[in-house]
Amino acid sequence: MSGNVLETSGLGKRYGSKWALRDCDLAVPAGRVIALVGPNGAGKTTLLRLTTGLLRPTEGTVTVFGSPARTDSPESLAQIGFVAQDHPLYRRFRVRDLLRMGRALNLHWDQDLAEQRLASLDIPLGQRTGSLSGGQNAQVALTIALAKRPKLLVLDEPVADLDPLARRTFLQTLMAAVADDDLTVLLSSHILAELERVCDYLIVLTGGHIQIAGEIDDLLSAHRQLTGPADGP
Ligand code: ATP
Repeated sequence: MSGNVLETSGLGKRYGSKWALRDCDLAVPAGRVIALVGPNGAGKTTLLRLTTGLLRPTEGTVTVFGSPARTDSPESLAQIGFVAQDHPLYRRFRVRDLLRMGRALNLHWDQDLAEQRLASLDIPLGQRTGSLSGGQNAQVALTIALAKRPKLLVLDEPVADLDPLARRTFLQTLMAAVADDDLTVLLSSHILAELERVCDYLIVLTGGHIQIAGEIDDLLSAHRQLTGPADGP
């Protein structure tokens, strides 16, 4: 295996006659927090869903830890945690019911981890998700994804609709999980500023094409070489 978490080659996805993603070549090393940034319609959700195996490519290939991501393979499913955009939890269910479903469906489910995380966030197991705030729902979705003990955690615009305090708390929980576990994180946003404090690898996507991909430190040093040292005051 190459040590890359995600590799794509000539990856493309077409919906009807419209290409949402085209000519996508990536080799992203494991162990990073990867920000996937681009405007509305750039193809971010499409790339994330191809990575999780929820979508099949129209052309090219995508592999995660060296194997094609497949939703019909328990091993492939077990290594990826996915938090969809707007984390659409079933609003009539209690938090406890969602944990029960998680336990029934996942090979490496860690119930203690899930209950401890929710207790530390003061989210009662008996509460219906429909009565939780947006920030609490985001935390429940993250907790469920982490309780799978994934090797790759994929989050589609997880902080887009959160207020600044909920956004900060969510990113802190995420960074604590990254520090504790051997975890690679791939998360998307419209706005780099939302994620720049937490990510160390950047992919910029516009119009279905990769514009930039690389370690943040390498990109910054390339930028400095092009622009010269900043003038002092
Ligand atoms: P946003 O930030 O608005 O969620 P995005 O960067 O995630 O956008 P995608 O959702 O991947 O972008 O969409 C890329 C393009 O593909 C858009 O033009 C979108 O309208 C189109 N598209 C996405 N899903 C479908 C679908 N199921 N059927 C037809 N077109 C689609």
